[in-house]
Order: sequence, then structure tokens, then C-alpha cells
Amino acid sequence: MAKTKLIDSFNREHTNLRISVTDQCNFRCIYCMPEDMQFMEDEKIMTFDEIIHLARIAVNLGISKIRLTGGEPLVRRGIPQLISRLRQLDGLKEISLTTNGIGLIKQAKDLYDAGLRRINVSLDTLNEEKFEQMTRRKVLSRVLAGLKEAQRCGFNPIKLNAVAMQGFTNDEIVDLAKFARENSYQLRFIEFMPLDADDIWGRNMFVSGKEIISKINAIYPLERVQSNGEAKHDAAKRYRFTDGRGDVGIIASVTEPFCDQCNRIRLTADGQLRTCLFALAETDLLTPLRTGASDEMIADLIIEAVRNKEPGHKINSADFVKPKRNMSMIGG
Ligand code: SF4
Repeated sequence: MAKTKLIDSFNREHTNLRISVTDQCNFRCIYCMPEDMQFMEDEKIMTFDEIIHLARIAVNLGISKIRLTGGEPLVRRGIPQLISRLRQLDGLKEISLTTNGIGLIKQAKDLYDAGLRRINVSLDTLNEEKFEQMTRRKVLSRVLAGLKEAQRCGFNPIKLNAVAMQGFTNDEIVDLAKFARENSYQLRFIEFMPLDADDIWGRNMFVSGKEIISKINAIYPLERVQSNGEAKHDAAKRYRFTDGRGDVGIIASVTEPFCDQCNRIRLTADGQLRTCLFALAETDLLTPLRTGASDEMIADLIIEAVRNKEPGHKINSADFVKPKRNMSMIGG
């Protein structure tokens, strides 16, 4: 049982840690990174021992859920072993992973055998041409094959993360809902956020949560699912298909921010603690760890950072400043 909890000055308790295990990726999604991305030197990236060490300290501070992200986590070797080691952490209740899916063809079974049960796979379009436009890669069929392999291995739920963008995927919203219904995937639409490297984000670029729901509801009637208990901290607002064929979630970060319920903090691949996806400041945990700081000292750094956490993002305010890191260097 955690002695100290990670509570900020707005009385939000933080129990959810996202760990980016690499900034590298085998895709080049236009809403995330530039085509000619410069990756960090290996020595700057946390080793698995360092990830486990910092995760243990965080779990002792009340973190009960860890999500592994990237870049693309499955381009880093040994993720099943890392998951097995994380599962040994007393107090950690849930491990999940966000992936672009192509690594699942080869790794789904090892990940499942290592004890992983929850995965989110990014899938913004079912159209080969648009997929290539958005990811700068011709691999849609391998992502779909990765999804099938994950389902065959027993992953459940498998969530699909779709970024809805005007002029790209806004005409595929119902198709993606149909695909998810027919394959028993849980679809999550994420409003496009200003964390892209190429500065293409604009208010005319994203599709609002309301628009997405009305498009789906017109074809597949939906009803809102009230979130209680732990679920109220979920980023996604859930809507159930009234015919019982699953549900769809909306992560409306821009138009309906949920920062007042935020329980998430992030650790970047180079060991920087970010208290918000849009944080402009970070707390270095890796240098103290590498220079012999005690677990107490590192715990104090985390507690202090959370205590000073910002109230929320400022995307909708005139003084919004875009973070220096793009999405691939934060991990979503
Ligand atoms: S924008 Fe920041 S404060 Fe708001 S929900 Fe996301 S991480 Fe939390």
C-alpha cells in the first residue's frame, strides 16, 4: 500500500503512468513526426533496469497502471521481458501498450505470454492510399494482420485509436465504426491535437467529438455510458451501440477537455517526467538516478513535480504555447 499519494494542488490523484520506451518509430505519421526525424542517441535512452527502477518508485507512490508507449514501443527489442519484469512490481494492477500494430504479427504471442492483456492499436483509415498519405508507409495490410494475430492470441479488449482529420479521415468515421463492430474491436476517436512536428495543426484540421458521434449515431444509434469510479478518469467518453455491438469512445481533448479529472503523468524515453501531455517544463529523473540519488530523493522529485502540476492544457486560450517535443518524443 503506497504511503504517499501523488496528489496535485487541484486535488487530483495520479495513479496512471505512461512510459515511453523509445522515441524511434517505423512509421512517419504526419500528425506526429517529420519525415526526416532525428532520434536520440542510445545512451540517452533509459535501460530496462532504469525503467524498472523508476517504475518501482512510482508504484510505491500510488501508480497502479502503466502504459508502454514510444515512438513505437515494439521497435525496441525485449518488450515482452520488460513486461514480465514490470508484472513483478507489487501494487501494479494493470499494464497496457499502445502500438502501430505491425510488430504484433511477430510479437503478439510473446507479449501475451509475458502477461500483457490490453493493447491499443493506432488505425486512422482503412484506405490503402490514405494510410500511406498519413503514415508515409505502405503497410496497412500488415497492421490489419497484426490486429488479427493479437485477437488470435487472446488480447481483449483490443482498442483502435483513430485520429480524425478533416480532409483525410472525416469521411471514414462510419466505415471505421463498422469495421470495429464487425471485428469486435473497441474504437476510440482522438481529436487531432497540436503536438505534430510539421505544424500542420489548425482548428480547421480536426474533427470534433460531437461531429464524430453524430455521424456514427445517424447510422448506428448510440447511447452515452456514464463513467463512474475509476472510469471517470478515463480520457475517453464512451458511447454504447444500442444494438449491443460494443462501444465507441471519444477523446475530445480540444473541444471537451477532461483535465479536471486527469490522473496521468508521463516518463519520456530519456527519463524526463512530464506532468501533462502539453507540459512546457520537465523533471529530469534519469540524471539523478545515474548519479546515485536515493529512491527517496527521486520520489521527492516526482512528488514535487506533481504538486506543481499545471491545471490543464491551454489549447483553447490565446497564450497557448506548443511544447518543444512532438508527440513521438512524449508517447501520447
Ligand atoms: S492535457 Fe494534460 S492535464 Fe489535460 S488531460 Fe491531458 S495530460 Fe491531463
